[in-house]
Amino acid sequence: MTKQKVVIIGTGFVGMSYAYALVNQGTVEELVLIDINKDKAEGEAMDLNHGLALASRKMSIKAGDYLDCEDASLVVITAGVNQKPLETRIDLLNRNSAIMKSIVRQVMDSGFHGILLVASNPVDILTYVAWKESGLPTNKVIGSGTLLDTARLRYEISKLIQIDARNIHAYILGEHGDSEFVCWSKAYVGVKPIGDVIETLDEVGFDDLDKIYLKVRDAAQEIIKRKGATYYAIGMALVRITDAIFNNENSIIPLSVYNGGTYAIESDLYIGLPAVVNREGIDHVVKLKLSEDEQEKLVASATILKANLNKMTF
Ligand code: NAD
Repeated sequence: MTKQKVVIIGTGFVGMSYAYALVNQGTVEELVLIDINKDKAEGEAMDLNHGLALASRKMSIKAGDYLDCEDASLVVITAGVNQKPLETRIDLLNRNSAIMKSIVRQVMDSGFHGILLVASNPVDILTYVAWKESGLPTNKVIGSGTLLDTARLRYEISKLIQIDARNIHAYILGEHGDSEFVCWSKAYVGVKPIGDVIETLDEVGFDDLDKIYLKVRDAAQEIIKRKGATYYAIGMALVRITDAIFNNENSIIPLSVYNGGTYAIESDLYIGLPAVVNREGIDHVVKLKLSEDEQEKLVASATILKANLNKMTF
């Protein structure tokens, strides 16, 4: 990977929150914006370019087309239609799957051979669609998965016990959606198991953890109810993944990854699991010793995803 060039496809709320965070954090050298609405992509590129005199590094930003994907290291797909109030992510499936196929076809026609990162919902299903359509190896096609949910979880635990969110080590696993679950058996505050921490606190109980799970699971709907869409935190989550790739970090991040049999669940699907990320994309999926209850939840989540994949034609 020689060039830090990112192409964003879909310059809506999510795509542009990601772009704005990339520019502010000086993550990339070259940024190309593509949208079916060319005026929108152009306007966004103009607006971002006007901040370059004030930015932390020199960058090239432009509105482009699919030919720009040829030498991109990373193509990030944030195109799609938004979740409507009370609509589940799976309801979005049919609408977004057709869009995904046509986008990936055009990306691959350019000669692209980098890493494909998908954020459009339902993200686990659409990452699988993108992988199938691209013909790329599984390690080069990644979905944002449960990274956003995990960030929400860490924030909520942090608020509950008054410890910095960056010291909370815990994952949401499974579908980025209603069947996701918290892997409590592997949740730590610093190096202390979260159960040990809760036991020492007078005003905090284990039922608070159950409440946190529901709050995290339903967070998107709560935000959508109030402001129509969620975008800042997912934008930052996409920057986190970009950094892990460009800096060859070998960071462990919960993402939507291909399960070829690491976990004893339905195989041949994409699902939220912890994975080591570097310049090759996914180096490997991290195998955790789940509790019996967590294993059941992961199986249930994978079964839901598989049932949806089985309804589709590839
Ligand atoms: P948005 O409507 O603001 O933006 C979508 C953009 O995609 C629009 O600019 C639209 O013109 C463009 N678009 C549509 N069809 C296209 C095509 N064929 N080619 C190129 N561009 C096309 O929506 P948003 O709020 O930015 O959300 C985008 C997606 O991200 C949705 O699927 C949403 O559910 C998802 N999302 C994912 C997460 C996550 O954690 N993975 C979080 C929030 C939102």
